[in-house]
Amino acid sequence: MSAPFIEEHLRALRLPTMLNQYKRLAQGMEERITYLGDLAALEMEKRHENGVRKRIVTAKFPVIKTLESFDFSQQPALPRRQFSDLLDSHFIEQRQNVIFIGPTGVGKTHLLSVIGVAACTNGHRVLFTTAAELLMSLITAKREDRLKQRLAAIDRYAFVIIDELGYIPFEREATNLLYQVISSRYERGSVGITTNLAFPDWTQVFPDDTAASAVVDRLVHHAVIFELTGDSYRLRSRKKGGNPPKG
Ligand code: ADP
Ligand code: MG
Repeated sequence: MSAPFIEEHLRALRLPTMLNQYKRLAQGMEERITYLGDLAALEMEKRHENGVRKRIVTAKFPVIKTLESFDFSQQPALPRRQFSDLLDSHFIEQRQNVIFIGPTGVGKTHLLSVIGVAACTNGHRVLFTTAAELLMSLITAKREDRLKQRLAAIDRYAFVIIDELGYIPFEREATNLLYQVISSRYERGSVGITTNLAFPDWTQVFPDDTAASAVVDRLVHHAVIFELTGDSYRLRSRKKGGNPPKG
């Protein structure tokens, strides 16, 4: 006699006394067990929801983009299956990276955000930042002699999304800092990147080829890479005379 999952739930909720005593206090009355089982299941559900919400807020997504609002017909060459596979977040457990390459407005940030929100739902700590914002925060931390703490704080996220890498060229100091983030996560945490640069062009934004290839090597070693093409979605929608769909 026991409601499904009741013991699993009480254990997960860290209620050891209830777990040990519930059967005794039920005195053989099935409905008491069912009642407790229902309560425990509700508590589990609520805590999960709160956790997901908290992780999404903490991640600091600029806007929440959904899978449903993405028009995949605009990206016919995108391997749908490979993309959908990332929504179970196993790539994070496998410390893989995800990279979206392509021109402006084709949906790189949208799709990577969808993967990020899914990761939050699956219980992973996620951080969304732009390359410029990340480097600014690292440079400031370094000046204030708290770079180590800043890097450690970044390390605590299971999935760090760095949006818009390559839009501004890097100085040597910034390159070193970015390299520290990438190399400290290498095989220990996942990184998500959106960039307008094909890999051969990364040398343009780094002060030298060695720095560029050091970063690229570590990023792509265990990475799922998507190349998006086409015109900007917003511009295209405008040209058609309509407003782009919301979301
Ligand atoms: P990128 O990061 O490649 O510059 P974004 O992901 O920011 O592009 O996309 C620009 C805008 O167009 C966003 O509001 C995004 O939601 C929307 N968008 C881009 N591609 C699509 C698409 N295929 N379906 C729906 N919305 C799209
Ligand atoms: Mg973008």
